[in-house]
Amino acid sequence: MVVGEVAERFDVAVIGAGPGGYTAAIRCAQAGRSVVLIERGSIGGTCLNVGCIPSKVLIHAAELAYRANTSDGTGVAISATIDAEQMRAHRHSVVDGLTSGVSHLLDNAGVVRWQGTAHFARRNRIVVEAGEGSPRHVEFTDAIIATGSRPVELDGLAFDHPLITDSTGALELDHIPADLAIVGAGYIGVELGTAYAKLGSRVTIIEAADRVLPLMDKRQSSLVARRMKELGVTVKTSSLASRLEGEQLVITSGESSEKVAFDLIVVAVGRRPNTEGLGLGVVGAQLTESGHIRVDAARRASDHIYAIGDVTAGPALAHKATAEAAVAAASIAGQPAAFDPAAIPEVVFCDPELVSVGLSAASAAAAGIEVNTFRFPFSAGSRSATLDDRNGFVTLLADTQGTIVGAQMAGAGVSELAGEVAHAIEMASTIDELADTIHPHPTMSEAIMEAALGLAGRPLHVTRG
Ligand code: FAD
Repeated sequence: MVVGEVAERFDVAVIGAGPGGYTAAIRCAQAGRSVVLIERGSIGGTCLNVGCIPSKVLIHAAELAYRANTSDGTGVAISATIDAEQMRAHRHSVVDGLTSGVSHLLDNAGVVRWQGTAHFARRNRIVVEAGEGSPRHVEFTDAIIATGSRPVELDGLAFDHPLITDSTGALELDHIPADLAIVGAGYIGVELGTAYAKLGSRVTIIEAADRVLPLMDKRQSSLVARRMKELGVTVKTSSLASRLEGEQLVITSGESSEKVAFDLIVVAVGRRPNTEGLGLGVVGAQLTESGHIRVDAARRASDHIYAIGDVTAGPALAHKATAEAAVAAASIAGQPAAFDPAAIPEVVFCDPELVSVGLSAASAAAAGIEVNTFRFPFSAGSRSATLDDRNGFVTLLADTQGTIVGAQMAGAGVSELAGEVAHAIEMASTIDELADTIHPHPTMSEAIMEAALGLAGRPLHVTRG
């Protein structure tokens, strides 16, 4: 006779199979633990299915279309035709390829996968519900919460209205909307708005702050605003999109308000951590004021319970989730571990691409840290000339001891340069170490060396920063 539910036993239960959860599951399995990974949606989470990956596929395709229209002067004439249905199929095939790769990795590591929605029933027990069948129970020694985040919904612009969608809906389109409104000029809104403008949509971006990308450096956001203007994007800053009246969006700016009709309105005003219904109280996990799960340096939320990724505070980025996963797994394996990065690179895949790593002049000033800066413009770079795109710069910051503490960049492909500066900051590299590292010519990465040379007082291809 069995009284109560029979639970299956695992050393580690991971809730959520995004970049945080699947990495944590693999790391724990590699450390010899039996692991169950519970996911209510698809392996890969937000990033692989409806975030980083499909958005970058869309942006790449939009860039190809845009290049076709702007290749004049290179001696090459390209004409682009856009098949939005095929573009969507291509996004799906890239996503499918990557998610099935992750599934193979999980299988190879011996991670057991359960489909369903999980919540804590007791300190060491999770219940997993999937559709009609009886719920399954798992008993664990350690659990990792990696439930991610979801788009914030605005009162008055609910996602269930046919004219309104979120970033997921915007990435699922099989047509190019003629008139597209994007509410929110954070990185997701700007990336989507730029891509659809390049594909031919008339895009209007509505932002409450007084500039696009308000969290990025002002020089960076003004370069993006300028390019948006060139692309024909209407940017309404210091403006609020409040509600629909009939089929029209009400946009208010100060005292004035207007009603504008759009084919589609994408609301991209931030993301909210997925903490509801998890039974966090049962395991003694607490929330911060921002609604994220409170964790210590080892990403421990309470005894034997860890939380990582978007569900915890900090930048909601895939690489932050992955790095935290390694810390939580190491801690579970009994190794000393702390999440204490010197810098988490932030990239906006807009036009030009933007990177911010470590301190900026503004954040250094706010923190009372004295820094020296040098800006190398791509107008002085040779690779940018060969690529026919001289827009942008690399600004490098060093503290008064000469240690590299930050960088802001704008330009074609600068996303690929973020790792070098992150490494330099993490290793506490000095100005001279960066300046005297031979960088290949002609590459965009030379701009980092040039900026370091400037900081060292020996600028080469510019006279001053
Ligand atoms: P998620 O990836 O959100 O995964 C959480 C998983 O948990 C989900 O699959 C969810 O279904 C599951 N889950 C939730 N609750 C439960 C439950 N109770 N039971 C079972 N399963 C549950 N980041 C970058 O670094 N670079 C980018 O270029 C980038 N672009 C983005 C573009 C867009 C449009 C969006 C929306 C996001 C983008 N991000 C990007 C952010 C990135 O996707 C997230 O930071 C990342 O996915 C967070 O990983 P995570 O593991 O914490 O959570």
